[in-house]
Amino acid sequence: MGKKIIVLGGGFAGVEAIQKLVKYLSKDDAEITLMEKDDAQTFRTELHKFACERIDLNAARFPLEKIIDTKRVDIVKGEAKKVDIKNKKIVSGSKEYGYDFLVLAFGSEPNFFGIPGMKENALSFWTLEDAKKINDHVKRCFSDVKKVKDANERQKMLTFVVGGGGFTGVEMMGELMRWVDKLCRTYLVDRKEIKLMIVEALPRILPNISKDSAVQKAIKYMKKYGVEVKTNSMITNVSKDGLTLKSGESIPTNTLIWSGGVQGNSFSSQIDLNKDKRGRIVVNEYMESSDPSVYAIGDIASYVDKSNKPMPGLVESAMQSADVAASNVASQIKGGQKKSLDLKLHGNIVYIGKSYGVANINGLGNFGGYIAIPMKHLVNIQHSFHVGGFGMVFKYLGDQIF
Ligand SMILES: Cc1cc2nc3c(=O)[nH]c(=O)nc-3n(C[C@H](O)[C@H](O)[C@H](O)COP(=O)(O)OP(=O)(O)OC[C@H]3O[C@@H](n4cnc5c(N)ncnc54)[C@H](O)[C@@H]3O)c2cc1C
Repeated sequence: MGKKIIVLGGGFAGVEAIQKLVKYLSKDDAEITLMEKDDAQTFRTELHKFACERIDLNAARFPLEKIIDTKRVDIVKGEAKKVDIKNKKIVSGSKEYGYDFLVLAFGSEPNFFGIPGMKENALSFWTLEDAKKINDHVKRCFSDVKKVKDANERQKMLTFVVGGGGFTGVEMMGELMRWVDKLCRTYLVDRKEIKLMIVEALPRILPNISKDSAVQKAIKYMKKYGVEVKTNSMITNVSKDGLTLKSGESIPTNTLIWSGGVQGNSFSSQIDLNKDKRGRIVVNEYMESSDPSVYAIGDIASYVDKSNKPMPGLVESAMQSADVAASNVASQIKGGQKKSLDLKLHGNIVYIGKSYGVANINGLGNFGGYIAIPMKHLVNIQHSFHVGGFGMVFKYLGDQIF
């Protein structure tokens, strides 16, 4: 009988680990299981489009049974409730699943930094459910405002703030600023009543875009749609009626979309492994945790390389760390050299609505403009092919382009 391997989490990292395990190990070497609470891989990088109705639900999801070789992999649709490192088993529902090797790939979650009222009153922006909630909430603001005559109340309902000016926050606002045009037409609201704002604690938005001129282009483009970018503006308090900044300024709003920070999925708190202060599982260059039969990859892994550079929470990190873990599990089973992570990041492209973007690409530098959009589509098409071959490429083209 082969060794039992469980991959926990079927996001970017988990699916890549599964596909590589299938490649590196034969049926006789290993019994491979993927445990995932959803029945699809969420294409998280597209969530802002779904939240603002540019794409439908299916376009943000890759069904697991279509991208995974189910002859080789047992897919368990279920939420892990407990990982028992000592006894090498996972509990999900009423069942227990034993393992010889475990690959943890259960991702991250928003970090509210303990800001009073943030968790209770802000809309977080990380999962598909978050995107659905944002969609419902924004539409409700528009549909309910027609009953409201009071100017202050109307202003609160029609002020939309994104907290955090990293790429997720900017992509969210880029989509929202176009969507509100449509909503104004549908709900007969004067566009002049809409206030859009990004609030960022740091002196600058988009830290992943290194050149100021590209960031300025992004700000200028958003300004055309009425977006105000407030930097050096730390949020210190949030209520259902608005938020307060460190400067004392208050911003009345019913909508704060929070994308200001991430931390390891808090499911890690009950797992007996070394973790960093953001709840992520500490791994070495082989993606091994403090238990040599347990690996962690993607957003839940905390890895710092020899030059003290932390692995960022990006799709490329997820995919490359997954390959390293799969290769090392295979070498633990079959023998052979260990592989260490040599992270190669190619850059970032940030959507700002459907026809503009800014990018920081190795070899091409920083730029902003319409050209960023076809480039981002190419990246997504390449990823779709990697994950699911031509079937997923046609799905992507159908869902997003034609
Ligand atoms: C809106 C948004 C936009 C982004 N844009 C970009 C971008 O443009 N470029 C980029 O490089 N990165 C981007 N990122 C970051 C990128 O999506 C993450 O780095 C990546 O998803 C990490 O992959 P992962 O597999 O570690 O985690 P995830 O993709 O989050 O997958 C984790 C999986 O684990 C499952 N899971 C969690 N807990 C359990 C449990 N207890 N039991 C069973 N299953 C469980 C979840 O359902 C999920 O499927 C973006 C993120 C967001 C939210």
